[in-house]
Amino acid sequence: MVDDPGLKALGEAARLSPDNLPLRRLLAEQLLNKGYLADAEAEFRAALVLAPKDPDIVAGLAEAFVRQSSHGEALSVLEPLLAAGGYPPRVGVLAARALLGEGDLYKAAYRYHEAVSRDPSVADADLAARLVIPEAAAPPQPAGDAYPAPSSATHEQSTAEIERSAFSFADVAGMDEVKEALRVKLLLPVQQPELFAAFGKRAGGGVLLYGPPGVGKTHLARAAAGELGAAFVNVGLADILDMYVGSSERNLRATFDLARRHRPCVLFFDEVDALAARRSDMRQAHTRQLVNQFLAELDGVDQSANEGVLVLAATNAPWYIDVAFRRPGRFDQLVFVPPPDAAARAAILRILCRDKPLEEVDFGAVAKVTDQLVGADLKGLVDRAVEVKLHESIRAGRAIPLSTRDLLAAAKAAKPTAVREWMATARNYVMHANESGAWDELMPWIQRKW
Ligand code: ADP
Repeated sequence: MVDDPGLKALGEAARLSPDNLPLRRLLAEQLLNKGYLADAEAEFRAALVLAPKDPDIVAGLAEAFVRQSSHGEALSVLEPLLAAGGYPPRVGVLAARALLGEGDLYKAAYRYHEAVSRDPSVADADLAARLVIPEAAAPPQPAGDAYPAPSSATHEQSTAEIERSAFSFADVAGMDEVKEALRVKLLLPVQQPELFAAFGKRAGGGVLLYGPPGVGKTHLARAAAGELGAAFVNVGLADILDMYVGSSERNLRATFDLARRHRPCVLFFDEVDALAARRSDMRQAHTRQLVNQFLAELDGVDQSANEGVLVLAATNAPWYIDVAFRRPGRFDQLVFVPPPDAAARAAILRILCRDKPLEEVDFGAVAKVTDQLVGADLKGLVDRAVEVKLHESIRAGRAIPLSTRDLLAAAKAAKPTAVREWMATARNYVMHANESGAWDELMPWIQRKW
């Protein structure tokens, strides 16, 4: 029961005008500051209904959970923000606390160090001390940063799974240049080896896809596997990162071996910046060991080790990746996956709607009013329009087809995820750091106004 008179008055005012977002937010924050955690949780939830993606409200709710030791709940509310990237550093620290509460020391350490590297003022000495991985848990390690032996054969199990992709490049709208780059790099050497050899080119090496969250990097990788008729392994952080020193390296090796046993195979690493971060940024030797293991697996024990294994990776934060990964034979091609322009948005919408009951739809009109929305946002938009239509159809007792009007209505409610923020972050990192020309593709995009 709240017995603070100021808070009581604020609570009363919020009850009288329940849609007043600034008021509810203030009430929630004060409840949190004064330690009324269950009440703060309820208020943040109510505020979140009014502003579903507001990162400060999400962070407030997560903090209320963490302080009540509900770490799983905190992680599930933080998850969309973490996945989108570009979140406030405070969110990274909260995620670290929640992950630590769940016993996930390794990921907690990663989130914490990433947050502090972006904003040193969020550092927390007590938390940092709890994030040091006990040396006792470590298997014997070679001295220093010795290069680990790449695997030859191993009986470790990978938690990643083999998929057969039902998608091909025809299912990826727009992105013509990106698709062409992948075709030359990944598909031609396999489909037409003689042609490739005639020009003295050697197959191999991976591609690093980078760009704002939700632009379709994962979708593209899956489609590349389908295009090639190759198996697809989608590796997430949870398949690799492990709290015990040495285990992450073993997981990584087992995952490469899984792909090698299923050639031809596209091995796709999502959020690869967490596995391939710059070694100079890392405070702990164990994370450097993981980077070294990754490099060793990419190189392979011999030339044929990775034959038929096409390594693709995606990141929203390419500037965190150690330059060693860009050497020949590793991720030697950086490909920017841009946000879709109007024509590409229309094409994405068309693909997303193709198996739905449809009236004649003017996709161009919807594309016009969805500036800054990326593929994932458009998917959300179509899902919402379909849901509304489904309810209408149930009420009417017959299938009512989706119309331009329905999509336009859903577009009104849709908010862009993070393109503008991503471009601003990218500008900060690469504007004055493009001596090698690595970011040439990105330059025109970040120089534009968003
Ligand atoms: P990212 O990996 O860049 O964060 P995803 O690949 O997860 O983005 O994209 C989310 C969803 O958006 C995909 O599952 C797909 O349905 C849709 N999508 C994104 N881009 C496209 C595209 N170019 N064509 C068709 N669908 C797309």
